[in-house]
Amino acid sequence: MTKKVATKKAAKKVLSKKVITKAPTKKLPVKKLDPKQKTIETLVELIKTTSTVVPDDVYRTLLKARTQEQAGSTASYAMNIINDNIELAKLKSQPLCQDTGTVIFFIYHPPGFHQTPFKELIKKAVVKATQKGYLRQNSVNSLTGENAGTNLGEGHPSIHFYEHNKKEVEVKLVLKGGGCENVSAQYSLPDTGLGAGRDLAGVRKVIIDAIHKAQGKGCGPGALGICIGGDRADSAYLAKKQLLRKLDDKNSHPELNKLENDIVETCNKLGIGPMGFGGKTTLLSCKITHANRVPASFFVSISYMCWAFRRQGIVMDKNNSIKKWLY
Ligand code: SF4
Repeated sequence: MTKKVATKKAAKKVLSKKVITKAPTKKLPVKKLDPKQKTIETLVELIKTTSTVVPDDVYRTLLKARTQEQAGSTASYAMNIINDNIELAKLKSQPLCQDTGTVIFFIYHPPGFHQTPFKELIKKAVVKATQKGYLRQNSVNSLTGENAGTNLGEGHPSIHFYEHNKKEVEVKLVLKGGGCENVSAQYSLPDTGLGAGRDLAGVRKVIIDAIHKAQGKGCGPGALGICIGGDRADSAYLAKKQLLRKLDDKNSHPELNKLENDIVETCNKLGIGPMGFGGKTTLLSCKITHANRVPASFFVSISYMCWAFRRQGIVMDKNNSIKKWLY
């Protein structure tokens, strides 16, 4: 190679290098959300997923139940429709059911956490999720019938705080449909009509009675949260809180664990079936807790959840993003 050619090549190299360095790819500025905005975004994501996707444990239980229905039966048809509904809702990010229910938050936080500002962020997230269509405009003033269209109002959303000894904040959410709430029940034992006394045999009787009464309503197959004892208000709340348990977990109390399994097995032999069409799948699960009572009272509270079992939870990281899904 002559000296002239070599110099030309070297110049070309320098030139092309220059061209590259002269026109660097323009980096788009990353829009950093302030911590409050980030929290709202995270909560909207939680609401969206809760509204549009059934948790894995529920889906597994539904799929297993579907295989137990006789092919070609109305029950099998109903279970297939439910499955199609679940798949379509997930695919389209649309609510599993038009009734997106009462919005119930459970917040578990470390000591020193400020509840009031977090409550405000939850409300903002609920409004945003409503605007985006993940929640139906579902909350109505009980005195005037007025619907503000935001899902905000007296006592709604329902927000419960608990202090725990972990460093992170956990947020759990349940969307509780009206149809299944209407077939939830509270019994006062003894119930002479049912021959139900103040013992576990009596408790069993009233639970089965509630399932009988719910047939054809509440969009079965259903899942139960039960509380034995407590006062009327706590009992109903603790029953609902049992819906936070995974469907395949085991009750650490041996007698209650036995009763849970017995209730599911017995109810699935009643022949009520999905949507009350007959069949083997009446109940997906039953979760029972207990609370002390006064000697004069013995309440059994039953929280009935429909197949559209909307419950999710997240662990938030220090940047208020989702670190982990809980279900
Ligand atoms: S009971 Fe459940 S599935 Fe039925 S309409 Fe209400 S929310 Fe929807």
